[in-house]
Amino acid sequence: MDGFSAAELFAKGESVTYGDFIILPGYIDFGADEVDLTVNVTRELKLRTPILSSPMDTVTEEKMAIYLALHGGLGVVHYNNTISEQEEIVRKVKRYKNGFISDPVTLPVTAAIRDIKRIKRTHGFSGIPITEDGSSHGKLAGIVTNRDVDFEDNDNLPLTKVMTPLERLVTVNEGVSLEDANEIIRKHKLGKLPVVRKDGTLVALVCRTDLIKARAYPLATKDAQKNLCACAAVSTHPSDRERLGALVNAGIDVVVIDAAQGYTSFQEEFIREIKSNPAWKHLQVIAGNVVTSEQALGLIDAGADSLRIGMGPGSICTTQETMAVGRGQGTAVYSVAKAARSRGIPVIADGGISSVGHLTKALGLGASAVMMGSMFAGTTEAPGEYFYKDGVRVKKYRGMASLEALQAGGSKRYLSEAAKVRVPQGVSGTVVDRGSLEDLVPYLIMGLKQGLQDIGTRSIADLHKAMYDGAVRFERRTMSAQAEGAVHDLFSYTKQ
Ligand code: IMP
Repeated sequence: MDGFSAAELFAKGESVTYGDFIILPGYIDFGADEVDLTVNVTRELKLRTPILSSPMDTVTEEKMAIYLALHGGLGVVHYNNTISEQEEIVRKVKRYKNGFISDPVTLPVTAAIRDIKRIKRTHGFSGIPITEDGSSHGKLAGIVTNRDVDFEDNDNLPLTKVMTPLERLVTVNEGVSLEDANEIIRKHKLGKLPVVRKDGTLVALVCRTDLIKARAYPLATKDAQKNLCACAAVSTHPSDRERLGALVNAGIDVVVIDAAQGYTSFQEEFIREIKSNPAWKHLQVIAGNVVTSEQALGLIDAGADSLRIGMGPGSICTTQETMAVGRGQGTAVYSVAKAARSRGIPVIADGGISSVGHLTKALGLGASAVMMGSMFAGTTEAPGEYFYKDGVRVKKYRGMASLEALQAGGSKRYLSEAAKVRVPQGVSGTVVDRGSLEDLVPYLIMGLKQGLQDIGTRSIADLHKAMYDGAVRFERRTMSAQAEGAVHDLFSYTKQ
C-alpha cells in the first residue's frame, strides 16, 4: 500500500500538525450527500454536525450558540462575564423557538413617538409591543406599528395615543405552535402576533417577515423536550461552583471545564464533584485541555464524558512560545484520541483550524468533533460589531489569555489569577468578515462530507475504524509539497 498508517506517521515522536501531512485518496462508490457526520461528541450527546465554537468572549454568546445548535453543532458560552450574564445567555438559548422572538424590543406605556424613532434608527424596524413597565416580558398594553407613526410629527406625543390597544389586538396564548401562529397571521393579515400568558404578560412575538424567512433545521441539536441544547464553560476555580449551580438552573445540558492545562487536581476534583452531586450528575462534562495520553486517561478516570485537545495551536495563542509547553496539534489529536478510544470516550480537536481541510484532517486523526474560534469570530453571530481596518471589514478577536482579556477577568483558565505579574498567553487582533453562520456552517459540512468521500469513508465512525485499521493512508509533506498544495504561481487571485 502507498503511504503510511497513522500509527507509522506518528511513530517518530515528532510534533506534527495539520499542514505537515496529507491523506491519500481511497475508493468512491457513493455520493457526498450520503456521508453521515453524526457523532457522539460526549459519552451521551450526539451531534449531527461535529462542530463546536470556542468559549471566548469574542466568539460565543446566545446568537452563536443558537445558530450553531440549529445547524447541528454546539456553541460553548464563555464565562468572562458575571454569573447572571452567563446564566441569561443560556436561558436565551434554551428558550429559543424557531420563528418566535423570545426577547422582543419593547417600550413602556410612558414612552413617546421619539422613542419609536430612536428604536427604528438603531434596530431598523418598528412594530414594537408596549408593556406596562417597558420590559420584554411585562404586561402587554398594545402595539405600535409603522403605520401608527409614519405621519406623526409630534415627537412628544405619548405612544398610548397612537398604539393599537390590547382590546383590539389579536394575540395567542403561550404554547402555540409555529404552524398555528402562521395560520393566524395569514388569516388576520397581521404583521406582528404577540404571544401572551394567561396573566397578560408578553412571552414572545411572531413576525410575518420572520415566518416568510423561517426555514427548517433538521440537524438541530435538541434535548428531550425539543429545546436547543445549551453548553457553557466554567473554570476550576472554587467560586465557579456557584456559577455552575446557576447554569444548571438555567438549563445547560453540557458543561465545559475550561483550562489551558487541564490535567490538575483541581479539575479532577471538580469532575468528581459534578458526577457525585445529584443535581449536577445529569450533565455531560467536557474536560481538558489535554495533549497527552496520560492527561487524557487521568481525566477520564475522574469521570470526564469527553475531552478537549489542544495546548498552543490556537490562532491567537502564544502558549507554546511563552510556556515552552504544548504539543503539535496533529500529534496531540492522534495520541489523545487513541487513548480515549480505549475507554470509549470521544475527543474534540480544539484550535488551529483555519480551513475545511483541517476539519477533515482532525477527524481523520481520531477526533469526533472540532472546536473553532477564529473561524467563527468574523461571523455576524459572533459578539461585537464590524468595523473597517485598512479598507477591510473586520471584527475583533482576542485570546482569553491576551492582556486585554486578562484585565477583563479572563484569567481563570490559566491558574494565574492570583499572580502579581501577568504573563499573557494570547494576543488580541481582528478577523475578516465571514458572513453568517447560515452560509458558513453548510459550507463546512459540505466540505467535510466531500473530504470523507475522497478518503472513501461514509461516516466518521467508518473513518475512525479505517484509520485505526491502517486502511486510511497518510504521507508527510515536504515544504515544497505544502507550497504546491496551496495556491501558487499566480500574479493575483481572490480567495472566497
Ligand atoms: P482558533 O480556532 O485557532 O482561533 O483557537 C481557539 C482556541 O484557542 C480556543 O478554543 C481555546 O482552546 C484556545 N484559546 C483561547 N484563548 C487563548 C489564549 O489567549 N491563549 C491560548 N489559547 C487560547
